[in-house]
Amino acid sequence: MNDELMTQHLKEFVGVEIDTTSTFADMTTLRVGGKPRYTVRCSNADAASFVVRVLDSENIPLVIVGDGSNLLVADASMGQADLDYVVVSLDFPHIQVNQDSGIVRAGAGANWDKVVAEAVDAGLGGIECLSGIPGRAGAVPVQNVGAYGTEVSDVLTWVRLYDRKTQVDEWVEASTLDLRYRYSNIKFTQRAVVLAIEMQLTTDGLSAPLNFRQLTENPGERRPVKEIRETVLELRRGKGMVLNPNDRDTWSAGSFFTNPIVPAEKADEVAQRVAAKLGDEVAETMPRFDAEGGKKLSAAWLIERAGFKRGYPGIEAQARLSTLHTLALTNRGEATSKDIVDLARTIRDGVFDEFGVKLVPEPVWLGTEI
Ligand SMILES: Cc1cc2nc3c(=O)[nH]c(=O)nc-3n(C[C@H](O)[C@H](O)[C@H](O)COP(=O)(O)OP(=O)(O)OC[C@H]3O[C@@H](n4cnc5c(N)ncnc54)[C@H](O)[C@@H]3O)c2cc1C
Repeated sequence: MNDELMTQHLKEFVGVEIDTTSTFADMTTLRVGGKPRYTVRCSNADAASFVVRVLDSENIPLVIVGDGSNLLVADASMGQADLDYVVVSLDFPHIQVNQDSGIVRAGAGANWDKVVAEAVDAGLGGIECLSGIPGRAGAVPVQNVGAYGTEVSDVLTWVRLYDRKTQVDEWVEASTLDLRYRYSNIKFTQRAVVLAIEMQLTTDGLSAPLNFRQLTENPGERRPVKEIRETVLELRRGKGMVLNPNDRDTWSAGSFFTNPIVPAEKADEVAQRVAAKLGDEVAETMPRFDAEGGKKLSAAWLIERAGFKRGYPGIEAQARLSTLHTLALTNRGEATSKDIVDLARTIRDGVFDEFGVKLVPEPVWLGTEI
């Protein structure tokens, strides 16, 4: 079926609209990316399952796009002015907060920070540390979003999924998603579409136990949720980690590389290489935390010690490290996807050459790879 016939067919379903003009640059926070075949906007979950089922049955490549805050898409600079993808946008933003039970449900299209704000206003605890993270509720399980010592897997109970293989739309337990640090079994596979999420929060007005040094001096303490939300938003703004269209330091995909998890012996080897380059004193301050599979290192710390300072490579470049945060690659206004990809490769290679650690990008890449 050609695109014209297909879009006519899809439009017959209640709640489906077709957009033929938006580009990935319009739909992503890095603001780069060519044009999809077309974008299908779905205003209810049944429409979304229908659209995905029909596109899959015709083997038409599709990608779910929320607010595009974790996506790097190729564009004309990489020979991809037109990408062979149909975008499916899930535009159902309902939020239900039950103050008595602490259960919060949100449709895939709900703005995540609005979900957090409504939960916090109701005095519910558990997601206040995830304040200010861009994107939609449907994307939150995809990479098990996390910040300031909390991950959504701590509170996520059920997810309404449309499974693209079995074509079944049902609520499944969050544990079936294999949620780990910045990972779920949906993230790179696109095997399923998240239509809604459910979380169990606490009802006593207090935060989850705090472990992050910038939030508490007494690890494990719980503080009022509103206070923690405000503090987290303040900390994030200071690092350009809250979206602001007027601030180019926020034209990013957030943290561009995940924190590498390496075997304990490898962490020692990295520390030795840091010592050889920068001296024992610096090596002693190298952050390393216990993690499943060994030690989690800090990507930002390694990037800086490898010689990439904030703002690298300098004021002339359209793709630069944020001037507030070494881990964010930013578009200063006119960057192409090639500029961003070249910068990502330079940083990955620089860290590898200096310390032997291979950084892995956090965002999902479309039409190109590192
Ligand atoms: C300034 C900034 C700060 C950030 N800070 C953090 C942070 O602190 N912690 C953190 O974890 N992340 C952070 N991020 C990354 C990003 O905000 C999150 O990953 C967010 O959940 C992505 O949501 P989105 O709607 O923009 O998803 P998109 O970028 O649109 O999509 C990301 C991936 O998820 C898939 N996807 C999206 N929605 C669905 C769905 N409903 N069903 C199935 N697949 C879907 C997409 O196909 C794509 O593969 C930050 C990003 C920015 C720009």
